[in-house]
Amino acid sequence: MSDKPLNFDTLQIHAGANPDPATGARQTPIYQSTAFVFRDHDHAAALFNLQEVGFIYSRLTNPTIAALQDRVAALEGGAGAVACSSGHAAQIMALFPLMGPGLNIVASTRLYGGTVTQFSQTIKRFGWGCTFVDFDDLDAVKAAIDDNTRAIFCESVANPGGYITDLDAIAGVADAAGIPLIVDNTSATPYLCRPIDHGATLVVHSTTKYLTGNGTVTGGVVIDSGKFDWMASDKFPSFSQPEPAYHGLVFAEALGPMAFTFHSIAIGLRDLGMTMNPQGAHYTLMGIETLSLRMDKHVANAEKVAAWLEADPRIDSVSYAGLPSSPYYDRKSRICPKGAGALFTFAIKGGYDNCVKLVNSVELFSHVANLGDARSLIIHSASTTHRQLSDEQRAAAGAGANVVRVSIGIENADDIIADLDQALTKALA
Ligand SMILES: *Cc1c(COP(=O)(O)O)cnc(C)c1O
Repeated sequence: MSDKPLNFDTLQIHAGANPDPATGARQTPIYQSTAFVFRDHDHAAALFNLQEVGFIYSRLTNPTIAALQDRVAALEGGAGAVACSSGHAAQIMALFPLMGPGLNIVASTRLYGGTVTQFSQTIKRFGWGCTFVDFDDLDAVKAAIDDNTRAIFCESVANPGGYITDLDAIAGVADAAGIPLIVDNTSATPYLCRPIDHGATLVVHSTTKYLTGNGTVTGGVVIDSGKFDWMASDKFPSFSQPEPAYHGLVFAEALGPMAFTFHSIAIGLRDLGMTMNPQGAHYTLMGIETLSLRMDKHVANAEKVAAWLEADPRIDSVSYAGLPSSPYYDRKSRICPKGAGALFTFAIKGGYDNCVKLVNSVELFSHVANLGDARSLIIHSASTTHRQLSDEQRAAAGAGANVVRVSIGIENADDIIADLDQALTKALA
C-alpha cells in the first residue's frame, strides 16, 4: 500500500486488526483467555518492565481489546487508547493519573446527567473536587482554574441540550493554564468531530452508544493525543516523577507520547480493574466497521425530524445544533461540519404532564435510558436521567421539565415522524 494516510471509512474497518497470526482468521477473534503464555522467563520480565508490548493477563491487556484500542486511537487521531468497562469508568480512568486528594477539575455545566452526579458527588470521596461553569463564558472558565486544577472537562456535542462546545477556545484556556483538556466525544463520535484536531489532550467515550451502535454492550475508552508535555510543570508527578506504584519508572521519560496509555494500563487497569471484556470489545469492533454509514443516516434523519418538529404548532422549541435556527449552528460548521449528531431535545406544549403522556404513547420509539442505538429512543430526562439533579442543574444541562430527549435511529425518517405525530396527538388530546 502507498504511504498516503488511509481515510476514515477504511480505518474504521482495518485499523488495529490484521489477520490473526495463528490461524489467518480474517475477523478479529474473541480471545476469551485470562492469561497468555510467556515464551520464557526473559519474555515475561520484558513484558512486566514495559520493554516489550505483549499480553500478560486480561485485566491489563488482551488481543481483542487491543485491536479496539488501536482502532479508536486511529479514528480519533491519538497516540494510544485504553478501553474500560463503561463510559463512566473511562472518565475515572482519564482523571486518575492527573488527580490526587485536594486537586480539582473545571467542568462544563452542560454534561450527561450521570457525569454531573459523578463529578459533583462521587469523586469527592477520592478527595477530588469539581467546579462547574458555563463554557460559553471563557472568563468564568479561566476564573474557575486555580493552582490545584488538573484538567478541564467538557462534551463536544453535549448530551442532551443541543449544545456544541467551542473546543478551540476552551483548548486555548487549557493551554494557557498548562493543564489538559478532556473531551467526552460520545454523542459526536470521531466521524463527526475529532477533538484532538481542536486541541484536546484526552478524549473519552462511552462506547456503549454510537461506537457499538446497536445497544448491546457497555464500554468506554480513553484516547490520548500523545501531545501534552507532562514534564513542563510539577503538576503531573504520575508521569514526570518516579512512579512509586511502578518501581520508580518515570513514565514520560520512558514512554514519551505513550506515557498516559501505558500508565493507564500498567497502573489504572491493574489497580482499579475497570477492564473491558473481550466479548464486549468484539461487539464494539463490529459496530465501528459501519460507523460512518450509520452516522450519516443518523444525522440525515435527525435533521429531517428536527425540522418537522420545529414547524409543528404542538412544539414550543427544538434544541438541535443541526437546525439553522440554533445559536450553535455556526459553531457546528466549525467543530462538527458533517453534522451535530442525532441526539436532541424538544419542548412540548403542556409541560411535564404532556411529556409523560408522549413517552407513554410512542410505538416505534423505545422508551429507554440509552442513546446511540440503531433504534429511535425517547426519554423524559427531567424525571429519569437527570432526576438526581437540582432544578438549576437540569435547566443548565438543557433537561427542563417540559423537554423530552430523542436519540434518532436509522429507521426510515418518515416512519419516525409518523410515530411522533400520532404520539403528540395523543399527548395533547
Ligand atoms: C452514556 C454516557 C456516558 C456514560 O457512559 P456509560 O457507558 O453508560 O458508563 C458518559 N457520557 C456521555 C455523553 C454519555 O452519553
